[in-house]
Amino acid sequence: MRVLIVEDDEGIARGLASHLRHLSWAVDMTDSVESAWTALSVEPFDMVLLDLGLRDGDGSEVLRLLRRSPPGKLPDAALPVLIMTARDQVAARIECLDMGADDYVTKPFDPDELAARMRALRRRSVGRAQPLIKTGLLEIDPAARSVHLSGRPVELSTREFGILLALVEVRPRVLSRPQIEAALYNWDSALDSNAVEVHVHHLRKKLGDGVIRTLRGVGYFVPKDVA
Ligand code: CA
Repeated sequence: MRVLIVEDDEGIARGLASHLRHLSWAVDMTDSVESAWTALSVEPFDMVLLDLGLRDGDGSEVLRLLRRSPPGKLPDAALPVLIMTARDQVAARIECLDMGADDYVTKPFDPDELAARMRALRRRSVGRAQPLIKTGLLEIDPAARSVHLSGRPVELSTREFGILLALVEVRPRVLSRPQIEAALYNWDSALDSNAVEVHVHHLRKKLGDGVIRTLRGVGYFVPKDVA
């Protein structure tokens, strides 16, 4: 999952980004209304964490613009937005929720609670109620970041887990290599041109050939039920 943090307190933004990256999410940071809007207009993010008091204005402006975005274009008007507010900003929270924000946390917040709220938001945005993802013989627990195949645990690296989860969440839709890269790598990460292929190769060694399939010339997919 690709996450944009919009926060002008550099310490908060960096700490949060580091925490979320350890959870296998790709995280980018911007610190103003303008830079957030530019980022959302050019990159396919899956979620926005939005601070309200920004350098050049109110973060709610990003939310307002986002929800008015025309369908089928970037930024995606349906993008899940979680706002991060100060404790005394009750009126602002209500206004943002009514303006289309999906959830909020009040500062200071526990990053683990925020991550759990993000997983819940992600479930809702991909239309899934159950915290565990079961597809045939494959079982994935996004919170524990664990994978079982035929009841046996499978050890995956952070990137491997990220690729598998990205594919499983949209199964049986095909994701192209650039789509997988966009979901997994933030702006600053050095990216080998064949990085995704290498990770998929390792995933197939660990999971067998039946889980991640190739649609030649298009990309990768996970079948609806893994047999
Ligand atoms: Ca701020």
